[in-house]
Amino acid sequence: MPQCAGIKRAGGRCEAVVSGQRTLCFMHDPANAEQRKRAASRGGKSKPNKELADIKRLISGLIGGVLKGTTNRGDAAVCGQLANTQLRAVAVELRVREQLELIERVEELEEIIERQNKKGA
Ligand SMILES: [Zn+2]
Repeated sequence: MPQCAGIKRAGGRCEAVVSGQRTLCFMHDPANAEQRKRAASRGGKSKPNKELADIKRLISGLIGGVLKGTTNRGDAAVCGQLANTQLRAVAVELRVREQLELIERVEELEEIIERQNKKGA
């Protein structure tokens, strides 16, 4: 079985089996660089999204209103609590999304390994 010509990051020849005319595996083929970069950056997408920005803007508005005396303190307190609930919901959503993305990435890796194992059999 043909072996990948790539070199592992830790050094030494890559042990992945390659198919057809290929001389490099998925991880070493420069043609897949874009795809690999996209897969890697998907996990780092948990920066504040629009929802968080909206909530922060709302809270800033409430603070400003209370300080200027244009917002009722009681209303601001209730809105602050609700905003807090919204923040928690967003946080849970982000965690769930992160986990789903991790699962997706693990599955992709498993598929790659499975495909390589089949070729090696
Ligand atoms: Zn390789």
